[in-house]
Amino acid sequence: MDKRRVFADLHLHSSASDGLLSPSELVERLSKFELGAMSLTDHDTTDGLKEAQQAAEKQGIIMIPGIELSTVMESKEAHFLGYNFRMENKELQRELQLFRFSREKRLAAMIGKLNRLGIVISHERICKLAGAGAMGRPHLARAMVEAGYADNVADAFDRYLGRGKLAYVERYRLSPVHAVELIRNSGGTAVMAHPGLADMDEYISTFIKAGLQGLEVFHPAHTPEQVKRYIDTSERHGLIVTGGSDWHGDTCACYASDCSWGLDRQRFNILADYLGRNR
Ligand SMILES: [Zn+2]
Ligand SMILES: [Zn+2]
Repeated sequence: MDKRRVFADLHLHSSASDGLLSPSELVERLSKFELGAMSLTDHDTTDGLKEAQQAAEKQGIIMIPGIELSTVMESKEAHFLGYNFRMENKELQRELQLFRFSREKRLAAMIGKLNRLGIVISHERICKLAGAGAMGRPHLARAMVEAGYADNVADAFDRYLGRGKLAYVERYRLSPVHAVELIRNSGGTAVMAHPGLADMDEYISTFIKAGLQGLEVFHPAHTPEQVKRYIDTSERHGLIVTGGSDWHGDTCACYASDCSWGLDRQRFNILADYLGRNR
């Protein structure tokens, strides 16, 4: 693959979602790579955008407001990037609130329901059972078994934790079409993130009908063949091409030697033009 000089990294995470660096630390780190433009695309939150914008302004980097929305369809997960949307859009913020509730509060809500049924399970014990992984219903079930409230995990699910049972709390999930519509309705440009990871190519035309406008072609997880294929797909459907490192601050970020992610200046100019017109 030709060596390209990366001008823009349009997929980045900060500690506002699951990244390690704060938005301003992230911008400062990126400024060392002489990037011309970036987008902070935290998962399901716009909380880091203001700080990132201020930091980028100081460094003279173009900062495009972004977000990455997780969706589920037929048990497969697809992510969508939104660019240049109106952050204060009520519909969008309401949805993000629901996401937050599902992620952080679902388990607490289930523990609360159990408590009201006289079943006392400590949050700390579930934490221990989950180890480094994300806490979920299986850990809650194991804690219940340990404490003698259920015969086994299946029993805990049957009586309390299964869908529709006494202590069940629904998890909120967006569909891909809904995510695309949310981004479009808030004035943003909707891009499918790392389509190579989603394995939903056969639905791309469905997403386009819902308003999808671009594909994230240049992503570290994509093979050169996938990059080529998604460029073809983009050209065939008139989609814009985006790219980014999906950096979470955990590995070493490097743009200089191998430039298979992010956008070069020419592609960024095309995108910037598009974003300007789409707004
Ligand atoms: Zn993603
Ligand atoms: Zn990401």
